[in-house]
Amino acid sequence: MTDITRSLAAIVGEDYVSDRPEEAFFYARDPGLMPPHAPEYVVIPGTAEQVRDVVRLAGRERIPVVPMGAGMALTGLVIPLRGGIVIDMKRMTRIIEVNERARYAVVEGGVSQGLLKRYLEKHHPRLRHSIPDSPAAATIAANVMIHGQGRLTQQYGFNSDMVSGLEVVLASGEVCRIGSCALSPDWFSKGAPMPDLTGLFLGWFGATGIITKVGLKLYPRKKLRDVEIFITDREELVPDMVYELTHTEMMEDINVFAQPKPMIFKDNHHIAFFFTGDTQEELEFRRKMAWKALEPFIRQKDGGFMGLPPVMKPTLLDMPQRSVSRFADVKKGGGFEYSGPIILVEKYPECYRKLKELAERYDLAFSGMSRVIGRSHCMMYGFSFTFNRADPDMMERTRRALREVSAYALEAGGVFWKPTVEEQKMALEKMDPNTRRLMAMIKKNMDPQGIMNPGNWEVS
Ligand SMILES: Cc1cc2nc3c(=O)[nH]c(=O)nc-3n(C[C@H](O)[C@H](O)[C@H](O)COP(=O)(O)OP(=O)(O)OC[C@H]3O[C@@H](n4cnc5c(N)ncnc54)[C@H](O)[C@@H]3O)c2cc1C
Repeated sequence: MTDITRSLAAIVGEDYVSDRPEEAFFYARDPGLMPPHAPEYVVIPGTAEQVRDVVRLAGRERIPVVPMGAGMALTGLVIPLRGGIVIDMKRMTRIIEVNERARYAVVEGGVSQGLLKRYLEKHHPRLRHSIPDSPAAATIAANVMIHGQGRLTQQYGFNSDMVSGLEVVLASGEVCRIGSCALSPDWFSKGAPMPDLTGLFLGWFGATGIITKVGLKLYPRKKLRDVEIFITDREELVPDMVYELTHTEMMEDINVFAQPKPMIFKDNHHIAFFFTGDTQEELEFRRKMAWKALEPFIRQKDGGFMGLPPVMKPTLLDMPQRSVSRFADVKKGGGFEYSGPIILVEKYPECYRKLKELAERYDLAFSGMSRVIGRSHCMMYGFSFTFNRADPDMMERTRRALREVSAYALEAGGVFWKPTVEEQKMALEKMDPNTRRLMAMIKKNMDPQGIMNPGNWEVS
């Protein structure tokens, strides 16, 4: 044991610290395409105080710290680019409070999507949270950190908009509360009516602090839930169709997907919309509103509803949708990565054409998956490619295709979602210089030694 390992063991206990290469191997990579880089130490703290003490030690010794949830962001954000200590949050799984009437939960920084979902189903069946389609092990804290999107995003915006408070360990080793919880026992607001300080942390990928608790808004869980799919082969009409659907204000979630396989999907765009109701009557009313909204397109013979066999519905209604993970194995070998710029819905046709062009040029299997954010305020357009991990040439082709997506996304007025380090640099370069200076000021003040997930948001 080195001195640092001994000090870490004194904080988290010997069972929860490692400096062994075989463990560092796993923490050196994520499932995406970024080259690995190993940490020197891995710790799995059990409490916020332990996270605080690890960060204090790291500050004294000037060692980088990288917080990690499930490592599923895919874009290299948990790879310890400068080595140091990976702080694996998976032991911090307490659901501290659910306030049924005020509809919020307070959870520790390692609570997974699956854990909160199961807990609510069992103890608070009238409440739900906005579940992303990532594997259930993905954490709530990391998802809001990267401004994720989930099943309620069409109604309420990014999952990070649903945060109702944070507890954060700062680089200085102080533990800080953000939102109403800073001056009240109640976690109902992340900022308003006070200054909203969550922006100092959310979107920074741990480069300004480590979240040890999240307050998350919950929403009514209706008894019934259904899905319909509207199909069109005219991509230029998809934005209009989405506009009409969002105008109804009746949908829970709207996704659009287009992929060449299986053959029945080829050249079609599938607008999948989900809706809920406490009674059959409520559900049917919403379905009717959607039909009415899309009727003009049917009359013009520009699209129609897909007859969904009842056996297909449970898969579509699954939360998270496992079909997204299965896509990773289309080419066998389990490789899947997507660049998901946040962009205007009206750019849908352009994005789709670009995706097809890149897939053809680089000979890759593709899927275009988009999720409408808010009332059509924007969408996440996922340029997704699948590859075989045992085929370095295919991996390189995927990298090159994704690099082209990045350049295209900026050109088209998009903003990167969970950007790779390379994309972060591109964004900083394009950004208004005054905004960049403001970001530099924040980073310098919040992490003067540059120990917090270094390599990410390195802005000067
Ligand atoms: C098949 C598939 C489908 C997906 N579908 C969706 C989807 O529908 N919606 C969506 O939003 N995402 C989706 N994703 C992307 C991603 O998996 C999720 O956003 C997920 O929530 C990330 O959580 P994580 O715990 O894996 O994050 P990680 O990869 O562990 O971490 C992400 C970032 O957050 C930082 N971080 C982690 N924990 C903390 C903490 N406590 N404090 C501070 N920083 C922290 C990390 O350092 C890193 O920078 C999908 C991924 C896959 C593989």
